Amino acid sequence: MEKPLLATEFLDRARKYFGGHEAILTVEGERLTYGELGERVDRLSAALQDRGIEKGDRVAVLDPNTHYQLETAYAAIQIGAVHTPLNYRLTPEENKYILDDAGIDAIVCDYDFVENIDPIREAVGVETYICTDADRADTDQEWADFEAVIAAYDPEEYERPEMAEDDLITINYTSGTTGDPKGVMRTHRCETIHAYLTAHQQSITSDDVYYWTLPMFHVNGWGHIFAITGVGARHICARGFDPGRTFEKIVDEDVSYMCCAPTVMNMLIEYWENEDPQTTGDNDLRIASGGAAPPEQTMRTLEDDIGWYFKHMYGSTETGPLIVTSDYSRLFDQSDDARFDIKNRQGFAMLGTEIDVVDEEGNTVPRDDETIGEIVVRGNQIMEGYWNKPEQTEQAFSARREGWFHTGDLATLDEDDMLKIKDRKKDIIISGGENISSLQLEDCLYNHPEVREVAIVPAPSEEWGETPKAYIVPKNGDPDNPDVTAEEIIEFTKAHLADYKAVRIVEFVEDLPKTSTGKIQKYELREQEWEGHDQMVGEG
Ligand code: AMP
Repeated sequence: MEKPLLATEFLDRARKYFGGHEAILTVEGERLTYGELGERVDRLSAALQDRGIEKGDRVAVLDPNTHYQLETAYAAIQIGAVHTPLNYRLTPEENKYILDDAGIDAIVCDYDFVENIDPIREAVGVETYICTDADRADTDQEWADFEAVIAAYDPEEYERPEMAEDDLITINYTSGTTGDPKGVMRTHRCETIHAYLTAHQQSITSDDVYYWTLPMFHVNGWGHIFAITGVGARHICARGFDPGRTFEKIVDEDVSYMCCAPTVMNMLIEYWENEDPQTTGDNDLRIASGGAAPPEQTMRTLEDDIGWYFKHMYGSTETGPLIVTSDYSRLFDQSDDARFDIKNRQGFAMLGTEIDVVDEEGNTVPRDDETIGEIVVRGNQIMEGYWNKPEQTEQAFSARREGWFHTGDLATLDEDDMLKIKDRKKDIIISGGENISSLQLEDCLYNHPEVREVAIVPAPSEEWGETPKAYIVPKNGDPDNPDVTAEEIIEFTKAHLADYKAVRIVEFVEDLPKTSTGKIQKYELREQEWEGHDQMVGEG
C-alpha cells in the first residue's frame, strides 16, 4: 500500500490523540492544548485563504521562536502554501532579497521585528501583512493584528486542497556566507521522512518536554516543528536565547530535550560556572548539538559536571539537516572517558541515508583516517534543489559524484566508516602545500584554560602562502589584558600538534562575529585578513 507522505499528518495526529493535552507553553505563559492549537491554525488558514493565498503561494514568517511560527507553518502547509521562515537577525535589505527571490505573498511578523520589514515594504510585492500583538509594534505602517485576524474566522471555513507528497511545503534560506542566500526547497515527503528519522534518532516520545533553544527558522528548527508535534510532546517556546531563563525553564517545566550549537552550549556552561543553577527538573535531559564540531571540553563539562546526555549531530540546511551522528550508545561505554573519542566524531549515516567521503574523481577515500575527501550524501530527507537556481542545484548534485548531494565539508573515514570532519572546503588552511585543519587547531585551543572562544583562519604569509591565525576571546573577557600572552598560545599549539600546524599569529578580541544560530562567521574574519591581498591559496 502506498499512502502519500504529507507533513500535515503531524498536527492532525496530535489533535486527534492528544487534543486535550498541552501542546505549547507560550512565551507569555499561556498553555495551549493540541486541540486549541489546531483550532487557531484552522482559523489562520481560513484568514490566509480569504486574503487570496492559494496552493503554491509563499508565506513568510519572521519570529523569534514563539507559537506564532508553529501556527503559521501549519496554517500555510495545510492550505498548500509554502512556509518560508526568515532569520530574525537579517537586515531589511537582506530580507528584501529573500522576499523578492521567493516571491512572498504574505508575511507574519513578530511585533518586535517590524522594523526589519517596514523600510522595504514599498519595494516588495507582499500583499498581506500580519503582526503578532500589533499594538506593541513600533510602526507607522498598516499591520493587521494576528489575534484579530484569526478571531474573524471559524475553524471550519478553510478548505484543504488536494496535496501530493512531492509538493513544496517550505523554503529555507541558507546563511549566504559565500554569496546570496540560496532557497532550499523541501517537500512534504522530505520533511515527513526527516521528521520520522528525527523522532527515532532523538528518541522523541509523547512524554518529552522540548525547550526551543534552536531557532525555528533554521531548517524548521531541524524538523522539530514536525517531530515534536507528531508524537504529541510539549513545546516550550522562548523569545530568542537566554542562558538564565533556559535553566529556569529546564527546572520549572521538567525539560527533557533541547538542541543547540556549540557556542550556545558554551554560554550555558559559562552561566552554570558563574551561577551554579539547578540543572534538571524531574526529567533527565539530553542535549543535541550540530552546526560545528563540539570541543571535547564542552562535552565533558555537559556530561560529567552538569549531568546532561550529549548527542552529536551533523548535517546542513540542504540535507534536512540530520544525516549523520555518532550517538550510537552501543559503540561506547557512557561511564568511560574514552567515549569522547567517538562522541567527538561526526559519526556515520542515520537510517535510510547513504554517506561517502570521496576524492575529486568521486572515488571513496581509503579508510585510513588520514586521507581527506568531500562528504557526499543520498537520502530521502535531502532537499529537492535550490529555488530558482538550476545551475547551483546541478552543481551541488554532480560535482564529484552524480546524483549525490555535495556538502562542501572535508572529512576522513576510519576503518569503521566513521567520519571526522576536518574542515569546510573553504576553511582549510594551505600552508606551504600542507593542509592544516582550522578545526583541529580550534579544538586544541579550547583546552587552554584562558581561552573562552577561538576561530582560526588563514592569514596571508609571504613565505607559506597562508598561515594559521587565531582570533581569541580570552576567558576574562578583556582583550587588552588577557591572562595569557600570544607567545603562550603559540607554544600551547606547538606542544600539542605537529610543528607545521602551529598557530603563528594571535589576536585577542572582545567578540567573534556569529550567525543567528551561534555559528562563528569565519568568512568575515577571513575577508578582514585578506583585504588588499590576492586570492587565498585554498578555496576561500
Ligand atoms: P547550515 O546549513 O547553516 O546548517 O550549516 C551546515 C554546515 O555546518 C555543514 O556543512 C558543516 O560545515 C557545519 N556543520 C554542521 N554540523 C557539524 C558538525 N557536527 N561538525 C562540524 N561541522 C558541522
